Amino acid sequence: MKDYYSTLGVPREGTIDDIKKAYRKKALECHPDRNPGDAKAEAQFKEVSEAYEVLSDENRRRIYDQYGEDGLKNAGGMGGGFPGGGGFSSMDEALRTFMGAFGGGGGPFESFFGGHPEEMGSARRGASKQVNLSIRFEEAARGMDKEITIMNLLPCKSCNGTGAKTKNGIKSCPTCQGKGQVFQNRGFFSMVTACPQCHGAGQLITDPCKACGGEGRVKDRQNITIRIPPGIDSGMSMKMDGYGEAGLAGGPPGDLFVNITVEPHSTFHRQGDDVVLEYPVSFIEATLGCRKDMPTPLGETVKIIIPEGTQSGKTLRLSGKGIPNVHGNGRGDLLIKIIVETPVRLNEKQKALLKSFQELETEQNNPNRKSFLDKLKGLFS
Ligand SMILES: [Zn+2]
Ligand SMILES: [Zn+2]
Repeated sequence: MKDYYSTLGVPREGTIDDIKKAYRKKALECHPDRNPGDAKAEAQFKEVSEAYEVLSDENRRRIYDQYGEDGLKNAGGMGGGFPGGGGFSSMDEALRTFMGAFGGGGGPFESFFGGHPEEMGSARRGASKQVNLSIRFEEAARGMDKEITIMNLLPCKSCNGTGAKTKNGIKSCPTCQGKGQVFQNRGFFSMVTACPQCHGAGQLITDPCKACGGEGRVKDRQNITIRIPPGIDSGMSMKMDGYGEAGLAGGPPGDLFVNITVEPHSTFHRQGDDVVLEYPVSFIEATLGCRKDMPTPLGETVKIIIPEGTQSGKTLRLSGKGIPNVHGNGRGDLLIKIIVETPVRLNEKQKALLKSFQELETEQNNPNRKSFLDKLKGLFS
């Protein structure tokens, strides 16, 4: 059950002015131009627009107050304005509501993008870009600044991004009065579409800048320093605000998304913030116990004791010696998996020594083997 009042955040007894104010604020926050590619914002934009469409109409608000959403569906007809009877299915519908709510006089974009009114109406945000970046295991563990070079659409320096050679070389588009969008009637519904004369720019350039051909942007190499936080992992993406393509006609730039791949390490294997290290020891070291210096993923050395009688496959946990958490929540653990190596290429003297040891061996030296043999005996008797 939808509650249009809570969607807009106004009390049930709120005035039409309250509703208008609340809608303008919410719609601007989740407007698709401001949140390109964000499905959640898009859904929210449709939702608040639908709520506004109902509550701003005295008649429909009364029906809604009395019978709820179902009452509106049954009301139907032209005045209903909801194709299919349930909510805003298309963005065009929501955009039409949006344009209607802001009326004439500068248009919604004035308050949206800030800046000078003469640049507005036409302002369009630049496209966002993606780049893939592969970094080494150690770089991901410690964090670092990484410089990359990308090809990007940057504001033209010759015309300061305006696209015109001189200040007088721009005029507002007469077809859309600088809004960049026009209404078109299709059946019962009027749709918002890009202005056919200025293709949505809202302005016409009469004296184009030679360097950028009037677009206000030029393709160029751009060096960007990316601050990689310690603990970043493969599959994570970093958003660099404002490093996408330059906007059009004073619009803000898009963003740059840096998709990270961390190259695997030859010895350290990552499991989230924990790191597994397989550490080979000789069978004598495992039998008698030993002390070892362990490397950690951040390059420190930690002294550890491998206790007497350590079995192959045993894992020792060094708390807080793994990878720093990328959100700053401490540090993972280092898990040292002991691998006991069976000696090979023994000479005669070594073999003789082991044989005399074998003669002294008792069942207690190998408790696992003993219990295993006992179980087998029980099986066949
Ligand atoms: Zn136009
Ligand atoms: Zn230019």
